Amino acid sequence: MRWVRDYVPQPEQTRLYRTAMLITLGGNLLLATGKGLVAWITHSAAIYADAANSISDVVYSLLMVVGLYMAIQPPDLSHPQGHARFEPLVGLIVTLSMAFAGYEAARNAVVRFAAGGASVEMGLPMYVLLASAAIKFGMFLVISRIGKKLNSPTLTTTATDNLSDVLTSVAAFIGVVLSSLVSPLADPIAGLLVAAWIFKQVYSVGKENLGFLTGKGASMEEVQKFVAAAESVPGVLRVHHIMSEYVGPKLILDLHVNVAGETTLSNAHTISDNVAARLKEFPEVDRVYVHMEPDDWTD
Ligand SMILES: [Zn+2]
Ligand SMILES: [Zn+2]
Repeated sequence: MRWVRDYVPQPEQTRLYRTAMLITLGGNLLLATGKGLVAWITHSAAIYADAANSISDVVYSLLMVVGLYMAIQPPDLSHPQGHARFEPLVGLIVTLSMAFAGYEAARNAVVRFAAGGASVEMGLPMYVLLASAAIKFGMFLVISRIGKKLNSPTLTTTATDNLSDVLTSVAAFIGVVLSSLVSPLADPIAGLLVAAWIFKQVYSVGKENLGFLTGKGASMEEVQKFVAAAESVPGVLRVHHIMSEYVGPKLILDLHVNVAGETTLSNAHTISDNVAARLKEFPEVDRVYVHMEPDDWTD
């Protein structure tokens, strides 16, 4: 008797996850420390606000390390099907941190609008902001590449957060330049635009991670593709019932498949294994349950 699902160690994946965790935690720690120091030296309000954002990034990085560590653990008696749901859970936490950054960006823009002043002082504070944007952009490039390779909702969400931090800094820079050249309103307007962009991202990544946690189904086109693949397996008459469900970033498929009523159990078993193997060729499919039924059975 076996109690947990088969597990094949994936050393390359584990290595990529480690790299992503190290870059995210290390990068955010470096940024929080650097900005904290510069804020302390220059008393720049803008750098103080940015340092606060970096500290909240460090907090989610720590949670992300714990969450991803859990997510890549082999299946065990406590989680016999594996730990994939930890991924979108951490993704949701990162989303909350993004929402906080968006709220701060909007609040700062409103405060600056009321005060009528530009946000970032020229000189050291501005260089720090631009250097931090450059580092975050590098983090965005690496993390989004690894996230796509691993199909990891935690990492793609983290990459989106990196990009939103880049835009916040760049908008602060453009705002300062334009407010001296065009109008002092340019700065708060740039801040509000970035806040709006961040909230749009919060909505879409939040929705995606929630779907992975709550058992959302695949799109109709995808389901049709799975039905066609299952019906192409020799011995399968038709598929009359199919349900899909995201468990973590991958799908469970539950199919009712008709085969000829006189098929022997051995042959039916082979057909069932072939259907499962065919469907698992799709990278988005994690596991497949096949229920065999005779001839015209439709229940
Ligand atoms: Zn079997
Ligand atoms: Zn049925």
